[in-house]
Amino acid sequence: MKDFESNNGWTRDVWVFTEIQDHERVLDGALELLTKGREIADAQGSKLYSIVFALDAEQYLPAVEQFGPDVILYCSDRALKHYDSQIFPDLYAGLIEKYRPSIVLFPSTEAGSDLAPRLAHRFSTGLTSHCTGLSIMRFDEYDRSLLVMQRPAYSGNAIATVICPHTLPQMATVQQGVFDRKEIAGGKPEIIRLPFEYDLATLRIESLEAPVRWDKPKVPLEQAPIVVAGGRGLGSKRTFDRLFELSGLLNGEVGATRVPVFNRWCGEERMIGQTGKTIRPRLYLGFGVSGQIQHTASIIDSEIIVSINTNKDAPITGISDYVVTEDASSFLSRLIDRLKREKRVQ
Ligand SMILES: Cc1cc2nc3c(=O)[nH]c(=O)nc-3n(C[C@H](O)[C@H](O)[C@H](O)COP(=O)(O)OP(=O)(O)OC[C@H]3O[C@@H](n4cnc5c(N)ncnc54)[C@H](O)[C@@H]3O)c2cc1C
Repeated sequence: MKDFESNNGWTRDVWVFTEIQDHERVLDGALELLTKGREIADAQGSKLYSIVFALDAEQYLPAVEQFGPDVILYCSDRALKHYDSQIFPDLYAGLIEKYRPSIVLFPSTEAGSDLAPRLAHRFSTGLTSHCTGLSIMRFDEYDRSLLVMQRPAYSGNAIATVICPHTLPQMATVQQGVFDRKEIAGGKPEIIRLPFEYDLATLRIESLEAPVRWDKPKVPLEQAPIVVAGGRGLGSKRTFDRLFELSGLLNGEVGATRVPVFNRWCGEERMIGQTGKTIRPRLYLGFGVSGQIQHTASIIDSEIIVSINTNKDAPITGISDYVVTEDASSFLSRLIDRLKREKRVQ
């Protein structure tokens, strides 16, 4: 057990797993986490580290630098192109052993949610998942400052406040879209390239196919003024795909509940809710969405909510400004036809 008392060289540094999305850009949630990490590191007078593992990782460093890390540790190799449940935890654990940060943060993505618990297990420490609040607070009973982690509990009806007073590092996965992103002018972090030293012959899992690449939102969902979201009630990927037609006509973006993501009708970056994005559009249209708290807690600040559901008593109707009690697929088709007529497009 790595405890505070023996210290064992643990620093007060804050680490952020700076995830790369689709080999294209730094995940927004990671930039939000760097902003929050900066605040935490400043509050306790420690350093903020950004950890980047990717193929051609150098290309992402300028974007990362703008969010104020003191140090960027990066590793670049073809084997890091996709998240890997063996390579990433092995490399990351080695770095934690060497550098000894006391706070280690991850975005609540598929990769972050796989990596964080594996590391928590290796270090026999605690992990708070899907956090929506992080701060530093002094605890006299432990004679030290600790990371205070908040997360929804009891299906979102309560907020749990969690601390990890006896073991290190203190670890959290953090929901995307809950913290602001703030660029910091003029920062010049120390940049350390880590050699990729991994015996690929030890890999126990072989990927037979690359992950499917979905159409990504053109605008991050958190910033889209109109979001058309689909749920199980759309019934199939084919019907779900029509949401893209509608969003094109409205200049909006397509979002989803967890069901279409799990059914592989769309990519994870479109998921709205406790384990996805928190959105505040001017208009939210929910097609075949029941309105479970894990979804609705993240749409409640939308200016106008419209729900289309065959069940007039579905929970989402309780928070809707307009309710359409109808088959989602037929209503979607009619709406598309009507908008096309009005816009005179084929
Ligand atoms: C820890 C945890 C985290 C979670 N995180 C998330 C999250 O981040 N985001 C998220 O969305 N969910 C999340 N969930 C899942 C969540 O609890 C719900 O299961 C999910 O949101 C339901 O999705 P849905 O509304 O698409 O499906 P359902 O709840 O199955 O609802 C389908 C709706 O469609 C309606 N319907 C059926 N047929 C039609 C039709 N022909 N036309 C119109 N309407 C129709 C039904 O009346 C029903 O209301 C989480 C759950 C857990 C336990």
